[in-house]
Amino acid sequence: MLTDYHIHSSVSVDGVDTMTDMARASYARGVRALCFTDHVDLDFHGTGLPDPDCFNCRAAMLEMFQTARRETPADLRLALGIELGEGNHDVERFCEISSSPELDFVLGSLHNIRGTIDFYDLRYTSLSEVETLAERYLDELIELSNLPYFDVMAHIGYIARYIRRDGFRDFAVTMDNYGDKLDIILKNLISHGRGVELNCSGLRRNPPEETLPGADIVRRYRQLGGEIITLGSDAHKTAHAGLHLAEGAELLRGAGFKYVTIYQKRKPEFIPLSKLD
Ligand SMILES: [Zn+2]
Ligand SMILES: [Zn+2]
Repeated sequence: MLTDYHIHSSVSVDGVDTMTDMARASYARGVRALCFTDHVDLDFHGTGLPDPDCFNCRAAMLEMFQTARRETPADLRLALGIELGEGNHDVERFCEISSSPELDFVLGSLHNIRGTIDFYDLRYTSLSEVETLAERYLDELIELSNLPYFDVMAHIGYIARYIRRDGFRDFAVTMDNYGDKLDIILKNLISHGRGVELNCSGLRRNPPEETLPGADIVRRYRQLGGEIITLGSDAHKTAHAGLHLAEGAELLRGAGFKYVTIYQKRKPEFIPLSKLD
């Protein structure tokens, strides 16, 4: 069996397929515990300004989830979560949305820093600008790590993917480069009983990239006493469902983890990694 606690359906603006189709494709690739985490971003991607309607997808999301429950195999454990972005930009809204009772799981993510557009849409032109942005990104992850309204921090190091795309091929968020700030984030998560996601989407890129976070950060998290870690494909279409999760599980074993985490009704449950293949 495999677990996937980061997947998008057509509820997300950048998602393609229904929850039923995503679940069936995941099941066919061996996933037996799956959590939908469609985007709820407090800021508009294109402007970085607050989006007051960001959770208007709620009714459609619930309806599609109930349909998926009816239309998928009984031995597939389905959970409903959200990928809640930029929570530190509006803490009140973060608290309000994350306390929605239907949610099994809340991924806390950061796609843009205050007042700027998504890292994906930014263009990176100079090394000094890149370094400043990376510091600000990590400072905001520290803020996020102190807030109690999510379960697991998504894709630590997300900014690096797009910096490399724009020509800074050697840029990376690693323990060597940013160990002081990463340690603060990881220690905060551990002390508040929250976890880290191992986002496997980089493994399907061409050429393949590291997981987010990279193996060195995952090892450090374990060394510091981190136990809660989820696996995520971050698939946005059926073609990507379930891919590279087994490699992610292998990376976790290599880093010293014995369990991968899933959530139901915001409570962690630990699945032995020996059961994942
Ligand atoms: Zn994300
Ligand atoms: Zn995502």
